[in-house]
Amino acid sequence: MAAVPLRSWIWRAGTDMPRQSIRPRIIPRHDDSNGWWNILPPAAPESRLTGEKHVETAIIGAGICGLAVAHQLGKLAPQSEIAVLDAERAGFGASGRNAGFMLNLHSHGPPKKIDILRRNMQLWESGLDDLRHMVRDFQIACDWHEFGRIYGSAGSDGEKHIDEIADTLGQLGLTYSWLDAGQMQSRLGTAFYRRGLHAGGSALVNPAALLRGLARHLPVNITLYEESPVTRLDRVSNGFEIVTDTGTLRADRVVVAAGVFMRQFGVAAGRYVPMATYASLTPPLSDSELSHLGTAEPFGVLGGSEYGATIRLTRDNRLFVRNVFKHVPGSPTSRTEVSRISTLHRSAMLNRWPGLADVTFEHSWGGIMAFTWNDGTIFGEIEPGLFAVLTNDVSPMTRGAAAGRLLADYMSGSSSGLLSTQLSIPTARRLPPRPFLDIGVAIRRGLLHFAAKREF
Ligand SMILES: Cc1cc2nc3c(=O)[nH]c(=O)nc-3n(C[C@H](O)[C@H](O)[C@H](O)COP(=O)(O)OP(=O)(O)OC[C@H]3O[C@@H](n4cnc5c(N)ncnc54)[C@H](O)[C@@H]3O)c2cc1C
Repeated sequence: MAAVPLRSWIWRAGTDMPRQSIRPRIIPRHDDSNGWWNILPPAAPESRLTGEKHVETAIIGAGICGLAVAHQLGKLAPQSEIAVLDAERAGFGASGRNAGFMLNLHSHGPPKKIDILRRNMQLWESGLDDLRHMVRDFQIACDWHEFGRIYGSAGSDGEKHIDEIADTLGQLGLTYSWLDAGQMQSRLGTAFYRRGLHAGGSALVNPAALLRGLARHLPVNITLYEESPVTRLDRVSNGFEIVTDTGTLRADRVVVAAGVFMRQFGVAAGRYVPMATYASLTPPLSDSELSHLGTAEPFGVLGGSEYGATIRLTRDNRLFVRNVFKHVPGSPTSRTEVSRISTLHRSAMLNRWPGLADVTFEHSWGGIMAFTWNDGTIFGEIEPGLFAVLTNDVSPMTRGAAAGRLLADYMSGSSSGLLSTQLSIPTARRLPPRPFLDIGVAIRRGLLHFAAKREF
C-alpha cells in the first residue's frame, strides 16, 4: 500500500469534525498478494465513477461496514438512489483480507462485565445472522462453514487464557468442549498444543469471496463504484461533493465507512489505533502433505493468548497462518514488511508440522484494523448529513455487519432494541497524543508479544 500525499490546505489533523473541504492524505492501495482474493476466479471488471452524478446517499468504503449500510438502506428506501465508492475493489480492504472468523463472541482476559458482554453478544449474533442469511439467500460461494472455533494453548499464557475463556463462556451459559493434547493431535495432526477449547456458534469463510458476493448482490437502487478513490470531500450547499480521479458525485448525505482510513476524512482522529496484522496461505496440500494433518478436516484455531497465531485448514486444503501485530501510525503495510513477516509464518507452520518442510506459501499479505481503548465505537451522525461507522478489534466482522445495518436503520428513523443497544455503546475514547500513544502501544504490544511467545 502506498501513501498518496495530497495538497491539503484546509486539513486539520486531530479534529473530530470534517471541515468544509477534506482531502485524504493516505489512500488505500494494496500491492501485496491477498490470497483469499487471488485464489478466486477473476473478478468482473469494475465500474468507476465517471462524469458528474447525483445521489441521495453516498457511502465511502465497500468493506463490511459500508456494504452492510448499503444493503439495509437499499431495502428500507428502494426508491432512493445510493452509491458506494471504494478506492480499490470491494473485498480488497481489511474485510476481504482477514482470517475469516465470523464470530458470535470473542473475549480475552478474565470475564469482564458479563452484562456488557451479553449485550454486545446480541450485536455480534445479529451481524452473524445477517451474513448467514445473505450467504444462503444470495448463494454466495464463500466456503461458509459453521465450524465454530478452537482456542489452542501451547504455553502457560495460552493455558491461562483458555481457562478464562471457558469461564466467560460458562458464565454466559454457552457450551464448549475441551480437547486434551492427544485429541488436539489427532484432530490437527500436531503435538504443538497442550490443550484446546472448542466453542460453537461462529463460522469460517473465505472473506474476499464473502465481500465480493455481498457487493454483487447489492439492491438494484445501489451503484457500486470501485477503483474510485475519494480524493476530496467538500460540503456544498444542500449536501456534499465527492471528487475522485475520474468523476464527481453530489450527495445529500454521506456515510464514511472507510475503516482505519476514516481519520483521513477528519472523523474519529485520535480515537483508534491502526494495527497491522499479516497472513499467509499455502497452495492446496497434496495427499501426502495432508497426511500430516490429523483428520485433514477443515479447522480454525485461534491463539489462546491475545497475540497467539491464528491457523486454518481451508476446505480446499490450504494452510493459513496469521500472526504479528504492528502499530502503523502513519504508513500502511509495505511489501518488504509482508515478506519479512511471511518467514515468521513459515516458522509457525513448521513449529506445528515439521513434516511440511517442503511446503511454501503461495500468498502473503497484510491488513490494518482499528483498536479502540474502551471497546468504544464510532457510530451515528457526526455533523448534519455526515454519518460514520467503524468496527473495532472485538468480533470486527460480525460487529461491523450489525453496526452497518443499524446505522441504516438510524438514518431511516427506525427504532429497535438492538439499535438502542448499539447506541448505548460508548464513543471510542480519545487516546493520548503521540508520541505518548506510540510509547504506550509499544509497551503493551511488547508485553502481549512476550506473554504469547510460546503461542506463535
Ligand atoms: C489479517 C487480518 C485478520 C483479521 N481476522 C479477522 C477475523 O478473523 N475476524 C474478524 O471479525 N475480523 C478480523 N480482522 C479485522 C477485520 O477484517 C476488520 O476490522 C474489518 O474488516 C474492518 O471493516 P471495515 O468495513 O470497517 O473496513 P474495511 O474493510 O477496511 O473497509 C473500508 C473500505 O474503505 C475504503 N476506503 C478507504 N479510504 C478510501 C477513500 N479515500 N476513497 C474510497 N474508498 C476508501 C477502503 O478501500 C476499504 O475497502 C482481521 C484483520 C486483518 C488485517
